[in-house]
Amino acid sequence: MSATDRARHLDVVVVGAGFGGLYALHRLRGLGLSVQVYEAGSGVGGTWYWNRYPGARCDVESLEYSYSFSPELEQEWAWSERYAPQPEILGYINHVADRFDLRRDIQFDTRVTAAAFDETAGRWRVTTDRGDDVSARFCVMATGCLSAVTTPDIEGLSSFRGNWYHTGQWPHGGVDFSGQRVGVVGTGSSGIQSIPVIARQASHLVVFQRTPNFSLPARNEPLTPDTQAEVKAGYRALRDKARSSFSAIAVAAPTELALEVDPAERRRRYEAAWARGGLMSMTTTFRDLIVDKAANDTAAEFIRSKIREIVVDPDVAQALTPTDHPFATKRPCLDTGYFETFNRDNVTLVDLRQTPITEIVPAGIRTTERVHELDTIVFATGFDAMTGPLLRIDIRGRGDRPLSDKWSAGPRTYLGIATAGFPNLFILTGPGSPSVLSNMVMAIEQHVDWIADCLSYLGANGLGTIEATVEAEDAWVDHVNQLASATLFPRANSWYMGANVPGKPRVFLPYVGGFPQYRSTCDDVAADGYRGFGLTADPAAEPA
Ligand code: FAD
Ligand code: NAP
Repeated sequence: MSATDRARHLDVVVVGAGFGGLYALHRLRGLGLSVQVYEAGSGVGGTWYWNRYPGARCDVESLEYSYSFSPELEQEWAWSERYAPQPEILGYINHVADRFDLRRDIQFDTRVTAAAFDETAGRWRVTTDRGDDVSARFCVMATGCLSAVTTPDIEGLSSFRGNWYHTGQWPHGGVDFSGQRVGVVGTGSSGIQSIPVIARQASHLVVFQRTPNFSLPARNEPLTPDTQAEVKAGYRALRDKARSSFSAIAVAAPTELALEVDPAERRRRYEAAWARGGLMSMTTTFRDLIVDKAANDTAAEFIRSKIREIVVDPDVAQALTPTDHPFATKRPCLDTGYFETFNRDNVTLVDLRQTPITEIVPAGIRTTERVHELDTIVFATGFDAMTGPLLRIDIRGRGDRPLSDKWSAGPRTYLGIATAGFPNLFILTGPGSPSVLSNMVMAIEQHVDWIADCLSYLGANGLGTIEATVEAEDAWVDHVNQLASATLFPRANSWYMGANVPGKPRVFLPYVGGFPQYRSTCDDVAADGYRGFGLTADPAAEPA
């Protein structure tokens, strides 16, 4: 077989070269499989390639938000801060690509436009916007949960005289805001990270806020050599602890209920969590914060009191105070000086609940109150999360059925990794898996390892296809929904619920039963001969 034929008849196509696609390439290539990765961007990194906005950094601590599969890699890489900034994370991912010689199987600047399962051949036909047309036995969608940006459809945007940017597609050369009047639309994690940094550079910043958000202090700081040495000496134990923790982040599980302790003690605990900073400090203070509204109210009210303490103007503080959703039912943001930024003379908050945007005009953004004149607009308006990147590809399974048709009322998966009617298609950190509710790098590694074991099993047993059964999928979807409905999550209009995209079905997307429970279910399914999957023989396999 010529090199070209080999390229056209692959074992695996992987779509995406972020944390997920790179590890999939490394593991699957290690099984002796031919793997081709297609990546729409010009480089590796995924999230960290695209999201170059000022202030971008991780919100899971770097020593944990990193691959665990290679102890050597863990030891040789040094993180500079508790939460590494975007350029450093991108540098790390590039280092990984070089260290494991990954680039030679990645085709950049190439967007996969369609993937169709050929039932006769038992293979996927994958096509790209660059004219590639390849056949592969397996397809791994490493397209990311937060890679399909959403820019609001506001009338008049094309008439705007200045420049506009989306945080998730930031220009590589950066943007100099000096002397500019800047408008930021959106106050989720991306807005909350970028607003303090832009405010320090711009002549004037107008923040257009639709929904106030809960944000916690990051308390970012340099990582001292001593701290790093200490973590590195015990890295295996730390990773094991993370794997057995609810969010795949190494923290002790809370045992107490919020209303079990007296108000003074509760406040003391919240104060300590606020002082420590970080996502987990506050969310793991008590074990019932996400299931009991009265418990949640205590944490929410504490954060509201902090906003009132920090923000000098009481009207601005009021406008910044979240009241419409329980704490942590949207992903809490981590900030460095976010609320303090509204005490600056050059920052104005526009409360879109009072004065909605009506249109964009050449000079800026018009609300029902007035035109805010701007030189630059930054849309920190988020993503069509979890399903968006998949549904932007024309994926067709058995009977030429489009995935968009199958998922028209919301995604249906088995274990968040496979979907019935689409044999040999694997979704990394897909809907119905812990995914965005966990340390994503660990969730990615768990999925890739499971897929690698699965492909080894198929090979060792002369099997050609693996496909989720409808029964297993229905039971899994019910289970995922039941878990979610026992929490407060459905009470928020969040991207977890698909509520940020007009017309998107309202379904709670991730699995909320926790990483350890999920991992052990996946392991049991595999140990049980891939229970809930249909397996067929590979006609090309040698008879045993
Ligand atoms: P991605 O990194 O999104 O990579 C997917 C890649 O697929 C992209 O490069 C995209 O171009 C490519 N792609 C998509 N569709 C196609 C196509 N059709 N053809 C070709 N290529 C395609 N998670 C955490 O756990 N902790 C954090 O601190 C954290 N911080 C975050 C900060 C930001 C700003 C954002 C947006 C997300 C953050 N996340 C965080 C979530 C983050 O997305 C994951 O942690 C992780 O980077 C996802 O890796 P991935 O490889 O699955 O997906
Ligand atoms: P997001 O959380 O979805 O926030 C989008 C913001 O834009 C919201 O405030 C939303 O308001 C607003 N918005 C959307 N459409 C609008 C419109 N038409 N008019 C006015 N406002 C509008 O998106 P994100 O901030 O990019 O974050 C997405 C996720 O990425 C995060 O939850 C997190 O998981 C990850 N992330 C992490 C970090 C980090 O700290 N490491 C940083 C960035 C992103 P509503 O709330 O009213 O919809």
